[in-house]
Amino acid sequence: MQHDNERQGSSPAASDMKSGATMRAALVVSERGLIIDDIALPPPPAADEVQVRIGAVALNHIDVWSWRGMAFAKRTLPIVAGAEAAGEVVAIGAAVEGLAPGDIVSLYGANTCGTCPACQEGRDNFCERMDAIYGFHVDGFLRERMNISARHAVKAPAGVDVMSAALAPITFGTVEHMFFDNAKLKAGETVLVHAGGSGIGSAAIQLAKAIGASVITTVGSDDKAEKARALGADHVINYTTERFEGRVRKITGRKGVDVVFEHVGPATWSGSMLSMKRGGRLVTCGSTTGILAQTNLNLLFQQQLRLIGSFGCTRANMRAAMEKMAAGEVKPVIDTVVPLDDLETGLKRLESRQVFGKIVVTL
Ligand SMILES: [Zn+2]
Repeated sequence: MQHDNERQGSSPAASDMKSGATMRAALVVSERGLIIDDIALPPPPAADEVQVRIGAVALNHIDVWSWRGMAFAKRTLPIVAGAEAAGEVVAIGAAVEGLAPGDIVSLYGANTCGTCPACQEGRDNFCERMDAIYGFHVDGFLRERMNISARHAVKAPAGVDVMSAALAPITFGTVEHMFFDNAKLKAGETVLVHAGGSGIGSAAIQLAKAIGASVITTVGSDDKAEKARALGADHVINYTTERFEGRVRKITGRKGVDVVFEHVGPATWSGSMLSMKRGGRLVTCGSTTGILAQTNLNLLFQQQLRLIGSFGCTRANMRAAMEKMAAGEVKPVIDTVVPLDDLETGLKRLESRQVFGKIVVTL
């Protein structure tokens, strides 16, 4: 904890809480052990940092895993939870340019170095020294204030509020990176979006429609089907009542889709492989149903398919997402807003998958 805090340039360790000003934070203390406690306020920001008053934190599956505990995660508890957030700048370090108190900023979710070749090229998610995801490896965003490198505070354009900006790093940024940097999705193409009711699924439907692609999406209930249609999906498949790959082939005249948006994993993998047209691209950013899946290699090379792994996003992806929010091309889909005290309720709701869109914690 102490080591992480030093690396992060911030100081609110519960263990060395001093007398004086404190703030509230959500701390993962053990497997499924979560407490809301007072920790020390951060000191004034260092020269290259800004101090942010956190306004909204969006929950993701990584928070559920962080809360449940993962045996292979290298970290020391307690840790401040929260991986995706936005807030308002309240103080800036002496060397910070381009940001001022009052600015709404979306916070990049990983502690990248800023100096390696990848960072210099703006490919933040390829940072050679990226060793820490906020809220998972090091203290995250579920606290009232934090100091963060100014590089990691991406200014929101006018018209984008804190709640919307909180969804730029993972929910919208990840999808921007998957579709446009990796899968090269184009207008007129057809994309299969798995789990259209999930946070990234609801973002994917909108981002694909915004550029003029056709969207086929899967959902787990008729209620979610209606909501997915309202977001713009052209075809919605209830995967609990029909095999999505069969329906995809019917919808596309047996050809298959250009792009599959994967994040489900073993439960959908074989069907996803069968849903692509010749030369189709599958892009994946996650695997919520497990980590091992079988791939039909005949299909892979005969159909000349491309499988693309994608992780995180760049700061440019966050800016692009927020520009689209400002222009009204996409909008955050909020399932529930919960106060910090109800964080555990929010995590349980996300874990149960009884959600459409995002659960957001406000501070
Ligand atoms: Zn780097």
